[in-house]
Amino acid sequence: MRKLFRSIGSILFLLLLITPLAAVKEKLRFTLVQIDNRTYLSAANLRRLHPEIALQHNDKEDQGEIRFGKRIILYRIDEAQYQSQSELRELEEKGVIEDDGLFFSREFVEEILGELSLPVSYRFTQAHLIIVREKQRDSGQKLDFIIIDAGHGGKDSGALGYFDAAEKDITLSLARALKDQLTADFPKVKVYLTRSNDRFLRLERRSDIANKQNEGNRFGIFISVHCNSTLSPRVKGFEVYYLAQNHENQKMRQLMLRENLRFEKSSYIRKLTSQLMNAQIQRESKTLARHAFAGLSNRLDGMIKPRKVKKADFAVLRGSLMPAILIETGYLTNRDDLKKLQSVAYRKAFAAGVSRGIGSFLNELAKAEK
Ligand SMILES: [Zn+2]
Repeated sequence: MRKLFRSIGSILFLLLLITPLAAVKEKLRFTLVQIDNRTYLSAANLRRLHPEIALQHNDKEDQGEIRFGKRIILYRIDEAQYQSQSELRELEEKGVIEDDGLFFSREFVEEILGELSLPVSYRFTQAHLIIVREKQRDSGQKLDFIIIDAGHGGKDSGALGYFDAAEKDITLSLARALKDQLTADFPKVKVYLTRSNDRFLRLERRSDIANKQNEGNRFGIFISVHCNSTLSPRVKGFEVYYLAQNHENQKMRQLMLRENLRFEKSSYIRKLTSQLMNAQIQRESKTLARHAFAGLSNRLDGMIKPRKVKKADFAVLRGSLMPAILIETGYLTNRDDLKKLQSVAYRKAFAAGVSRGIGSFLNELAKAEK
């Protein structure tokens, strides 16, 4: 009898050992190639990203299409734009080149993963694209919560503007106004602030606050509020950012350093950069950024001018396991912007603009589901 118990025990022990191993998802690794100092993925490898990807290239016309289910992307060789769901999208550089075969730029590959909403998570390293296949969340899922993150705080003042205006104070008053507006406009959705007073919070803590709410299949979005600064006092306007691994240029890198790293532990940043990004969350972040930008452009008409929707690798966005955007609400180093940012009228218009954007974002998700 004792022997029987012992063998049942060892079987249970073996099962315990095997289960976590089986749960580890397989990582697929695709080699990237360097052509003229830029990174590309070959057409053959693009096809292998998922068994249901269909790539058709027309040699005579120098163009082609990539399909996944109902979604289609159209591209032309040597062009810095492509078409997705009949909308034209801009790229920083040429998306597809011919060089002894067909090659897709790293930037375009990231767009493809998101636009086709491939059921995968991914990460680019210097030489590889790493893919893990996984199921998607039901995109028609109702919104449970919104996290509003007031940038900086406490010993971290953020950017400084005229008359010693500190970014941390402006982001807090904007975040509070936004919370009031969203609570009124979305009564069924819980709205949280990462900080409600002037205190220091690490980026890691901000993401933890958001991800804790995200547990148990709850669906939420994350909105980080910041103000920009630059050496030229003439530069003004607002921008909305979403997360991408492929950041745009030198200026972008400087902004990322400013927003990401000053008070952060390097171990946390390392952990973040080893994390895979989910293609569905990436696409929804991009959609949310576009709608927030449109909502703000509409409500801030004549107050602060719209600049652009942009992509960047902000640590605070990378840490949030949900659709996330970062709004640079205006320039503290521009007198007009600063005056507006400190006014009650702007705060109201800002909150109304973001709320309008969230509303139309949710409508688009619901439509996509049908
Ligand atoms: Zn900031």
